[in-house]
Amino acid sequence: MSKQPAKKKSTADRTTRPRGMRDITGEEFYTYQGFFEKAAEVALYYGFQPIETPMVEKEDVFTSSIGESTDIVEKEMYALKSKGGESLVLRPEGTAGIVRAYIEHGMHTLPQPVMLYYHGPFFRHEKPQRGRWRQFYQFGLETLGTEKSIADAVVIRVIVTILQEMGIKNLCVRINSIGDKECRVAYIKALTHYYKKHLGEVCANCRQRIKTNPLRLLDCNDPNCQKLKEEAPEMVSYLSESSKKHFKEVLEHLDTADTPYMIDHTLVRGLDYYTRTVFEVVAHEEECDDTPDDLPDEATDDETPNEETTTPENEDNDETPPQERPDNQEETPKQLALAGGGRYNDLAKNLGSKRDIPSIGAAIGVDRIVTLPDFVPHHPRIIKKPKIYFIQIGFEAKLKSLEVIELLRKAKIPVLQSLSKDKLSIQLAMAEKKAIPYTLILGQKEVIDGTIIVRDMDSHSQDTVKIEELIEYLKKK
Ligand code: AMP
Repeated sequence: MSKQPAKKKSTADRTTRPRGMRDITGEEFYTYQGFFEKAAEVALYYGFQPIETPMVEKEDVFTSSIGESTDIVEKEMYALKSKGGESLVLRPEGTAGIVRAYIEHGMHTLPQPVMLYYHGPFFRHEKPQRGRWRQFYQFGLETLGTEKSIADAVVIRVIVTILQEMGIKNLCVRINSIGDKECRVAYIKALTHYYKKHLGEVCANCRQRIKTNPLRLLDCNDPNCQKLKEEAPEMVSYLSESSKKHFKEVLEHLDTADTPYMIDHTLVRGLDYYTRTVFEVVAHEEECDDTPDDLPDEATDDETPNEETTTPENEDNDETPPQERPDNQEETPKQLALAGGGRYNDLAKNLGSKRDIPSIGAAIGVDRIVTLPDFVPHHPRIIKKPKIYFIQIGFEAKLKSLEVIELLRKAKIPVLQSLSKDKLSIQLAMAEKKAIPYTLILGQKEVIDGTIIVRDMDSHSQDTVKIEELIEYLKKK
């Protein structure tokens, strides 16, 4: 059979960006750059060091860590086959790649814990909506190689400090402990038992989740499921003694560091790899700091499930395709998390590490922060706005211009210029339009004389200066 000729794409197809992705230029670029620089500075003060991992990882790095039945793995990963047949994925989050790097480079031989920060683009094929992009930017922290509760508190504190440095007010850390693998088995039994009793009231997504990912039942935004959630068993009642002790210590650290928090028993976060501490940072949460005095000491057995209750381990796989988040379930501004994270004590072993690498990490969603009304941009170190416009009139001047720019660069004086325009009036108008205070004017006569004209754009006064004296002259200005 002859091959059908490929349908010709319209020009518009070729000249528009993929859905949910953006070009970041001009002021916006500087805003992001300033964010990353300020956040890195805060992290460095607390002892975090930079790391950059590839934007593409082997698919297994994510499927074996994030969990097969999570939203990210089920429907949001940008997966590709390389020419060599490798299954690769555009990174949907930062943690798994960093743990992979820790194992690959034998970072367990370094003094522990290893504290790292990173930033860059991440990719999830989500439904684009307010605050959700398919390519989005995160600034993240990971502390690898310690179980200590102070590590959890430091990550949370640094995340909050960065957000405060960005001017964000009324921050609240919503925090929970989802315990270890062991205590979670009993809790999941209780949870599935409870939801099965209310099967008729839950949304279609949650009917799936009962079988595939019961913890995510607590994450649902459907109004009916929200109501059910209020009466659902709470993880805190199922925590082992050591998990409970850890949680209490983390809260004590937060109290001592005056970090506003609120225990949220329904917070579970979307990924399988979390153990113990999970948290999100939100803004404008009125009831923040309204925390109970203590955690319960004994596990309650009100919700002890009967024998038939199924756990995720013995549940059949269901073939029903995952469903898109319906439109009426968009997150409200109050619910939009600015940052989120948690402890992941088992992730390294899931990735193939022979040893446990107990760790804690978190990431800030930069795209959300920079659009908040409170947000205060930081100026990046790279030069935003040159104070000099360099006008060159004619070919000889353009030839000489590179030599002059190099002199200026070595003296750390940046310029704007027009590579294509020759006329003085046009170039002066361009400098004026950009409100640049000084222009350098180089014409044929100046090239022959070895001079250059410096013009003050406000007063319109100008001086002719020898090129070798130019830097000294400008520095006086
Ligand atoms: P997560 O990696 O899911 O824990 O997300 C950490 C933070 O990244 C969230 O609190 C959001 O602020 C941000 N974030 C996650 N997904 C997106 C997205 N698709 N678009 C924009 N920001 C996102």
